[in-house]
Amino acid sequence: MRLKDKVALITGGSSGIGLATVRRFAEEGAKVVFCSRRAPEKISDFMQELKDAGIDANVRYVQCDVSDEAQVKALAQYVKDTFGNCEILFNNAGIHLAGKLLETPPEAWDRIMGIDLRGVYLVSYYILPQMLEGGWGSIINMSSVSGICADYAMCAYNTAKGAITNLTRAMALDYADSNIRVNAVCPGVVRTAIAEHTFECVPGSEELFRQNYPTHLIADPVEVANACVFLGARESDAINGVNLPIDGGITCHTGQPQVGTY
Ligand code: NDP
Repeated sequence: MRLKDKVALITGGSSGIGLATVRRFAEEGAKVVFCSRRAPEKISDFMQELKDAGIDANVRYVQCDVSDEAQVKALAQYVKDTFGNCEILFNNAGIHLAGKLLETPPEAWDRIMGIDLRGVYLVSYYILPQMLEGGWGSIINMSSVSGICADYAMCAYNTAKGAITNLTRAMALDYADSNIRVNAVCPGVVRTAIAEHTFECVPGSEELFRQNYPTHLIADPVEVANACVFLGARESDAINGVNLPIDGGITCHTGQPQVGTY
Protein backbone atom coordinates (compact mmCIF):
# COMPACT_ATOMS: atom_id res chain seq x y z
CA MET A 1 0.00 0.00 0.00
CA ARG A 2 1.48 3.29 -1.14
CA LEU A 3 -0.17 5.55 1.46
CA LYS A 4 -0.32 3.17 4.42
CA ASP A 5 -1.45 5.06 7.57
CA LYS A 6 -0.80 8.47 5.99
CA VAL A 7 -3.27 11.07 7.27
CA ALA A 8 -4.94 12.84 4.36
CA LEU A 9 -7.46 15.62 3.86
CA ILE A 10 -9.32 15.92 0.55
CA THR A 11 -11.54 18.93 -0.01
CA GLY A 12 -14.50 18.67 -2.36
CA GLY A 13 -14.57 14.92 -1.93
CA SER A 14 -18.28 14.33 -2.44
CA SER A 15 -18.22 13.95 -6.20
CA GLY A 16 -16.12 13.76 -9.35
CA ILE A 17 -12.34 13.85 -9.02
CA GLY A 18 -12.45 14.33 -5.23
CA LEU A 19 -14.63 11.27 -4.70
CA ALA A 20 -12.40 9.13 -6.93
CA THR A 21 -9.38 10.32 -4.94
CA VAL A 22 -10.97 9.50 -1.58
CA ARG A 23 -11.56 5.96 -2.90
CA ARG A 24 -8.00 5.58 -4.24
CA PHE A 25 -6.43 6.97 -1.05
CA ALA A 26 -8.52 4.57 1.05
CA GLU A 27 -7.49 1.67 -1.20
CA GLU A 28 -3.86 2.66 -0.66
CA GLY A 29 -4.24 2.54 3.13
CA ALA A 30 -4.54 6.24 3.98
CA LYS A 31 -6.62 7.66 6.82
CA VAL A 32 -8.85 10.09 4.96
CA VAL A 33 -11.04 13.02 5.94
CA PHE A 34 -13.04 14.53 3.08
CA CYS A 35 -15.41 17.46 2.94
CA SER A 36 -17.96 19.32 0.84
CA ARG A 37 -20.61 21.99 1.46
CA ARG A 38 -23.56 19.67 1.07
CA ALA A 39 -23.79 16.10 2.30
CA PRO A 40 -25.71 14.53 -0.56
CA GLU A 41 -27.36 11.16 -0.20
CA LYS A 42 -24.69 9.65 -2.38
CA ILE A 43 -22.15 10.03 0.43
CA SER A 44 -23.93 7.31 2.39
CA ASP A 45 -23.98 5.15 -0.76
CA PHE A 46 -20.26 5.83 -1.17
CA MET A 47 -19.51 5.00 2.48
CA GLN A 48 -21.46 1.77 2.03
CA GLU A 49 -19.40 0.99 -1.06
CA LEU A 50 -16.19 1.51 0.97
CA LYS A 51 -17.63 -0.69 3.73
CA ASP A 52 -18.40 -3.45 1.23
CA ALA A 53 -14.79 -3.22 0.06
CA GLY A 54 -13.56 -3.33 3.68
CA ILE A 55 -11.85 0.07 3.47
CA ASP A 56 -14.30 2.35 5.32
CA ALA A 57 -12.81 2.25 8.83
CA ASN A 58 -10.36 5.09 8.24
CA VAL A 59 -12.56 7.39 6.14
CA ARG A 60 -14.55 10.30 7.64
CA TYR A 61 -16.79 12.90 6.05
CA VAL A 62 -17.10 16.48 7.38
CA GLN A 63 -19.43 19.17 6.06
CA CYS A 64 -17.29 22.25 5.38
CA ASP A 65 -17.28 25.21 3.02
CA VAL A 66 -13.63 25.91 2.18
CA SER A 67 -14.35 29.62 1.70
CA ASP A 68 -15.50 29.95 5.33
CA GLU A 69 -12.57 30.51 7.68
CA ALA A 70 -14.29 29.31 10.86
CA GLN A 71 -15.41 26.09 9.16
CA VAL A 72 -11.93 25.47 7.74
CA LYS A 73 -10.32 26.01 11.14
CA ALA A 74 -12.74 23.48 12.66
CA LEU A 75 -12.05 21.03 9.81
CA ALA A 76 -8.29 21.18 10.41
CA GLN A 77 -8.84 20.59 14.13
CA TYR A 78 -11.12 17.63 13.33
CA VAL A 79 -8.38 16.00 11.23
CA LYS A 80 -5.84 16.40 14.02
CA ASP A 81 -8.21 15.16 16.75
CA THR A 82 -9.36 12.18 14.68
CA PHE A 83 -6.22 10.86 12.99
CA GLY A 84 -3.34 13.13 14.10
CA ASN A 85 -1.36 15.68 12.09
CA CYS A 86 -2.37 15.90 8.43
CA GLU A 87 0.38 14.66 6.09
CA ILE A 88 -1.28 14.85 2.67
CA LEU A 89 -3.62 17.64 1.62
CA PHE A 90 -5.50 17.60 -1.69
CA ASN A 91 -6.95 21.08 -2.22
CA ASN A 92 -9.50 19.90 -4.77
CA ALA A 93 -12.75 21.78 -4.00
CA GLY A 94 -13.74 24.13 -6.77
CA ILE A 95 -16.57 25.50 -8.86
CA HIS A 96 -16.66 26.39 -12.51
CA LEU A 97 -17.93 29.60 -14.00
CA ALA A 98 -18.16 30.54 -17.68
CA GLY A 99 -18.09 34.08 -18.99
CA LYS A 100 -15.91 36.83 -20.43
CA LEU A 101 -14.96 39.69 -18.10
CA LEU A 102 -18.07 41.74 -18.89
CA GLU A 103 -20.23 38.67 -18.29
CA THR A 104 -18.68 38.21 -14.83
CA PRO A 105 -20.36 40.55 -12.34
CA PRO A 106 -18.40 41.39 -9.17
CA GLU A 107 -20.36 38.96 -6.98
CA ALA A 108 -19.64 36.07 -9.38
CA TRP A 109 -15.94 37.06 -9.48
CA ASP A 110 -15.80 37.14 -5.67
CA ARG A 111 -17.58 33.79 -5.40
CA ILE A 112 -15.14 31.95 -7.64
CA MET A 113 -12.09 33.62 -6.06
CA GLY A 114 -13.51 32.81 -2.61
CA ILE A 115 -13.83 29.09 -3.32
CA ASP A 116 -11.30 28.21 -6.01
CA LEU A 117 -8.44 30.42 -4.80
CA ARG A 118 -9.04 31.64 -1.24
CA GLY A 119 -10.25 28.13 -0.33
CA VAL A 120 -6.85 26.70 -1.30
CA TYR A 121 -5.09 29.40 0.71
CA LEU A 122 -7.32 28.98 3.77
CA VAL A 123 -7.11 25.19 4.01
CA SER A 124 -3.34 25.34 3.48
CA TYR A 125 -3.08 28.06 6.15
CA TYR A 126 -4.73 25.87 8.78
CA ILE A 127 -3.17 22.54 7.72
CA LEU A 128 0.46 23.57 7.14
CA PRO A 129 1.20 23.97 10.89
CA GLN A 130 0.26 20.29 11.34
CA MET A 131 2.69 19.28 8.58
CA LEU A 132 5.43 21.41 10.12
CA GLU A 133 4.79 19.78 13.50
CA GLY A 134 4.81 16.30 11.93
CA GLY A 135 7.99 17.04 9.95
CA TRP A 136 6.71 15.86 6.55
CA GLY A 137 3.95 16.74 4.14
CA SER A 138 2.70 16.69 0.59
CA ILE A 139 0.20 19.26 -0.66
CA ILE A 140 -1.52 18.76 -4.00
CA ASN A 141 -3.41 21.75 -5.36
CA MET A 142 -6.11 21.39 -7.99
CA SER A 143 -5.26 23.69 -10.87
CA SER A 144 -6.27 22.95 -14.47
CA VAL A 145 -5.08 23.30 -18.03
CA SER A 146 -6.96 26.59 -17.57
CA GLY A 147 -4.30 27.50 -15.00
CA ILE A 148 -1.51 26.98 -17.55
CA CYS A 149 -3.14 28.58 -20.59
CA ALA A 150 -6.38 30.54 -21.02
CA ASP A 151 -9.71 29.41 -22.45
CA TYR A 152 -12.31 31.44 -24.27
CA ALA A 153 -15.03 32.90 -22.02
CA MET A 154 -13.71 31.60 -18.70
CA CYS A 155 -12.20 34.81 -17.34
CA ALA A 156 -12.62 34.31 -13.58
CA TYR A 157 -11.93 30.55 -13.66
CA ASN A 158 -8.75 31.06 -15.72
CA THR A 159 -7.61 33.72 -13.27
CA ALA A 160 -8.25 31.61 -10.15
CA LYS A 161 -6.55 28.53 -11.61
CA GLY A 162 -3.64 30.61 -12.97
CA ALA A 163 -3.11 31.98 -9.47
CA ILE A 164 -3.11 28.45 -8.03
CA THR A 165 -0.37 27.49 -10.51
CA ASN A 166 1.91 30.20 -9.14
CA LEU A 167 0.76 29.78 -5.53
CA THR A 168 1.91 26.17 -5.90
CA ARG A 169 5.40 27.32 -6.95
CA ALA A 170 5.57 29.89 -4.13
CA MET A 171 4.52 27.38 -1.47
CA ALA A 172 6.90 24.77 -2.92
CA LEU A 173 9.85 27.13 -2.52
CA ASP A 174 8.90 28.37 0.93
CA TYR A 175 8.38 24.99 2.59
CA ALA A 176 10.86 22.72 0.77
CA ASP A 177 13.41 22.98 3.56
CA SER A 178 10.73 21.97 6.04
CA ASN A 179 10.25 18.67 4.19
CA ILE A 180 6.91 19.72 2.73
CA ARG A 181 6.36 19.37 -1.00
CA VAL A 182 3.73 21.30 -2.93
CA ASN A 183 2.60 20.31 -6.43
CA ALA A 184 -0.49 20.84 -8.53
CA VAL A 185 -2.45 18.70 -10.93
CA CYS A 186 -3.69 20.39 -14.08
CA PRO A 187 -6.34 18.25 -15.75
CA GLY A 188 -7.87 18.90 -19.11
CA VAL A 189 -11.47 17.85 -19.52
CA VAL A 190 -12.44 15.10 -17.04
CA ARG A 191 -15.69 13.16 -17.19
CA THR A 192 -17.45 14.58 -14.11
CA ALA A 193 -20.80 16.33 -13.64
CA ILE A 194 -19.33 19.63 -14.89
CA ALA A 195 -18.20 18.08 -18.19
CA GLU A 196 -21.33 15.94 -18.60
CA HIS A 197 -23.44 19.09 -18.19
CA THR A 198 -21.55 20.82 -21.01
CA PHE A 199 -21.81 17.74 -23.24
CA GLU A 200 -25.58 17.65 -22.66
CA CYS A 201 -26.18 21.39 -23.06
CA VAL A 202 -23.99 21.91 -26.12
CA PRO A 203 -24.73 19.30 -28.77
CA GLY A 204 -21.57 18.02 -30.45
CA SER A 205 -19.26 19.41 -27.74
CA GLU A 206 -18.04 15.99 -26.58
CA GLU A 207 -16.92 15.17 -30.12
CA LEU A 208 -15.29 18.59 -30.43
CA PHE A 209 -13.26 17.96 -27.26
CA ARG A 210 -12.22 14.54 -28.55
CA GLN A 211 -11.07 16.00 -31.86
CA ASN A 212 -8.99 18.70 -30.13
CA TYR A 213 -7.17 16.42 -27.70
CA PRO A 214 -4.05 14.78 -29.22
CA THR A 215 -5.03 11.49 -27.54
CA HIS A 216 -8.72 11.93 -28.49
CA LEU A 217 -9.58 10.80 -24.95
CA ILE A 218 -11.63 12.40 -22.19
CA ALA A 219 -10.03 11.59 -18.84
CA ASP A 220 -11.75 9.56 -16.17
CA PRO A 221 -11.66 10.98 -12.58
CA VAL A 222 -9.61 7.98 -11.41
CA GLU A 223 -6.80 8.99 -13.78
CA VAL A 224 -6.42 12.26 -11.87
CA ALA A 225 -6.79 10.39 -8.57
CA ASN A 226 -3.93 8.07 -9.56
CA ALA A 227 -1.65 11.07 -10.13
CA CYS A 228 -2.62 12.33 -6.66
CA VAL A 229 -1.68 8.97 -5.11
CA PHE A 230 1.75 9.29 -6.74
CA LEU A 231 2.23 12.94 -5.68
CA GLY A 232 1.04 12.17 -2.16
CA ALA A 233 3.29 9.14 -1.68
CA ARG A 234 6.93 9.04 -0.62
CA GLU A 235 7.81 7.65 -4.07
CA SER A 236 7.55 11.23 -5.43
CA ASP A 237 9.73 12.80 -2.69
CA ALA A 238 11.97 14.43 -5.31
CA ILE A 239 9.09 16.18 -7.07
CA ASN A 240 8.30 19.68 -5.85
CA GLY A 241 6.73 22.78 -7.40
CA VAL A 242 5.41 20.96 -10.45
CA ASN A 243 2.14 21.82 -12.21
CA LEU A 244 1.41 18.45 -13.78
CA PRO A 245 -0.76 18.49 -16.90
CA ILE A 246 -3.13 15.52 -17.11
CA ASP A 247 -4.44 16.55 -20.45
CA GLY A 248 -3.62 14.10 -23.23
CA GLY A 249 -1.04 16.59 -24.48
CA ILE A 250 -3.35 19.49 -25.29
CA THR A 251 -1.11 22.05 -23.58
CA CYS A 252 1.79 20.90 -25.82
CA HIS A 253 0.03 22.52 -28.74
CA THR A 254 0.78 26.06 -29.97
CA GLY A 255 -2.74 26.19 -31.37
CA GLN A 256 -1.55 26.39 -34.98
CA PRO A 257 -3.49 24.25 -37.46
CA GLN A 258 -2.13 20.99 -38.82
CA VAL A 259 -1.30 21.71 -42.43
CA GLY A 260 -0.73 18.98 -44.97
CA THR A 261 -0.67 15.24 -44.42
CA TYR A 262 2.60 14.65 -42.58
P1 NDP B 1 -17.49 18.29 -9.01
O1 NDP B 1 -18.51 19.38 -9.10
O2 NDP B 1 -17.89 16.89 -9.33
O3 NDP B 1 -16.82 18.30 -7.56
C1 NDP B 1 -16.57 19.48 -6.88
C2 NDP B 1 -16.49 19.14 -5.42
O4 NDP B 1 -16.13 20.32 -4.69
C3 NDP B 1 -17.81 18.66 -4.83
O5 NDP B 1 -17.56 17.72 -3.82
C4 NDP B 1 -18.39 19.94 -4.25
O6 NDP B 1 -19.38 19.64 -3.27
C5 NDP B 1 -17.11 20.54 -3.68
N1 NDP B 1 -17.17 21.97 -3.41
C6 NDP B 1 -17.52 22.97 -4.22
N2 NDP B 1 -17.45 24.14 -3.58
C7 NDP B 1 -17.03 23.86 -2.32
C8 NDP B 1 -16.77 24.64 -1.17
N3 NDP B 1 -16.95 25.97 -1.17
N4 NDP B 1 -16.33 24.02 -0.05
C9 NDP B 1 -16.17 22.68 -0.02
N5 NDP B 1 -16.40 21.90 -1.07
C10 NDP B 1 -16.83 22.49 -2.20
O7 NDP B 1 -16.31 18.78 -9.95
P2 NDP B 1 -14.96 18.09 -10.47
O8 NDP B 1 -14.66 16.84 -9.77
O9 NDP B 1 -15.03 18.13 -11.93
O10 NDP B 1 -13.93 19.23 -10.02
C11 NDP B 1 -13.05 19.12 -8.92
C12 NDP B 1 -11.93 20.11 -9.13
O11 NDP B 1 -11.27 19.79 -10.36
C13 NDP B 1 -12.38 21.57 -9.25
O12 NDP B 1 -11.47 22.39 -8.56
C14 NDP B 1 -12.31 21.83 -10.75
O13 NDP B 1 -12.08 23.18 -11.04
C15 NDP B 1 -11.12 20.97 -11.13
N6 NDP B 1 -11.05 20.60 -12.55
C16 NDP B 1 -12.06 19.89 -13.14
C17 NDP B 1 -11.96 19.55 -14.47
C18 NDP B 1 -13.04 18.79 -15.18
O14 NDP B 1 -13.01 18.71 -16.43
N7 NDP B 1 -14.00 18.19 -14.50
C19 NDP B 1 -10.78 19.93 -15.26
C20 NDP B 1 -9.78 20.64 -14.53
C21 NDP B 1 -9.91 20.97 -13.21
P3 NDP B 1 -20.45 20.75 -2.80
O15 NDP B 1 -20.95 21.42 -4.04
O16 NDP B 1 -21.49 19.99 -2.04
O17 NDP B 1 -19.70 21.67 -1.90
